[in-house]
Amino acid sequence: MKSVAILGSTGSIGTQTLDVIRENKDINVTALSAGSNIKLLEEQVREFKPKLVAIYCSKSANEFRFNTRDLDVEVSTGMEGLVQVASATDTSLLVTAIVGMIGIVPTIEAIKAGKDIALANKETLVTAGHIIMPLAREKNVNIIPVDSEHSAIFQALQGTFYNVSKSSFNTDNPLSKILLTASGGPFLGKTVEELTSVSVEDALKHPNWVMGQKITIDSSTMVNKGLEVIEARWLFDLPVDKIQVVIQPKSIIHSMVEFVDGAIIAQLGAPDMKQPIQYALYYPNRRYLPGERLDFSKIKEITFEKPDMETFKGLMLAYEAGKVGGTLPTVYNAANELAVKLFLDKKIGYLQIGEIINESMKAHTVKSDPTIEEILDAEAWTYDFIDAALR
Ligand code: NAD
Ligand code: MG
Repeated sequence: MKSVAILGSTGSIGTQTLDVIRENKDINVTALSAGSNIKLLEEQVREFKPKLVAIYCSKSANEFRFNTRDLDVEVSTGMEGLVQVASATDTSLLVTAIVGMIGIVPTIEAIKAGKDIALANKETLVTAGHIIMPLAREKNVNIIPVDSEHSAIFQALQGTFYNVSKSSFNTDNPLSKILLTASGGPFLGKTVEELTSVSVEDALKHPNWVMGQKITIDSSTMVNKGLEVIEARWLFDLPVDKIQVVIQPKSIIHSMVEFVDGAIIAQLGAPDMKQPIQYALYYPNRRYLPGERLDFSKIKEITFEKPDMETFKGLMLAYEAGKVGGTLPTVYNAANELAVKLFLDKKIGYLQIGEIINESMKAHTVKSDPTIEEILDAEAWTYDFIDAALR
């Protein structure tokens, strides 16, 4: 029986992972973790019976301990708790469904402990991909993408010379290009003027996917696609200039790969995150998954557009961060994490998200090949810079 732990089990990816596990009934859940939603976590613990949980907030953890005093479950807190969940001895696969850079340290500890990773937490790879991918190779650990586009690319690469356990190609890379599809989000086609008055409520309406708040805002600004370009750069070992973003508004094509001989393979399907989640849980096997199927007699056409990087500067800035590398992707990501938080709290306007990322990147002195400590320093520098700039 497979043994799975989940970082961020109460979120959008976390709950859908448990939905897949519930349907299949042949995965043992070893450990769960959440930020502060102890009500849902308690339901999950009563149903899936993990031996260990981590709750980031210690006050919530105390309340949880009291509410579950009839259960045999260990409760830990803070970063130490996340690391414990990530590296629990009886786990074979860790699903990183936590949001933000807070996932870096637990993901690295899981790899060091030899756990395979089903990776949803893209911010970790964006900021520390240069450490994580070589470490995974060294430890012979699989990094299996959960992000739908990256899962699509990964699925399209099955049967080529791509070797997941080495996280790179075992002959000369036969890939010439990745065509990363994007829906364009709720503001596709809008001008800068039209975006000035965007409210939090407007930005939280995604046309095709229901996701956590942060990634929904990121999808509307195209920063999500920017993060995905850098995520793909690390997962598939291609420079960012070989990763082309293609707007495909209905999210029918989840991404494509072009090989050196000009052949293109695409992965298509109904927009349902359970497909990439289940694929990652059971890779390399496929199983029946209930849900909608594409009906080509109804689709009739699939349309494509070029992304508007002048209006959606977040995507352009990601290419710059990805090209320069070092600590710049960290600054790109950290500035976005804080700006999105400020926007959700209604402290800044919508267009300020892109401005804050841009200003932070311009002011930063890049350090190349940063250590984890230097990545976390660059994150702290970014928060201080934004704090001072907004004061
Ligand atoms: P979410 O906000 O719905 O859930 C986040 C989870 O992380 C929750 O369980 C929350 O409790 C936990 N968490 C947050 N802060 C924490 C902290 N400080 N300590 C411990 N736990 C904490 O987010 P989501 O939409 O599920 O996204 C999770 C990750 O997956 C993100 O990196 C996102 O980019 C990526 N992703 C999500 C989707 C999607 O469809 N939702 C698709 C592709 C990739
Ligand atoms: Mg995605």
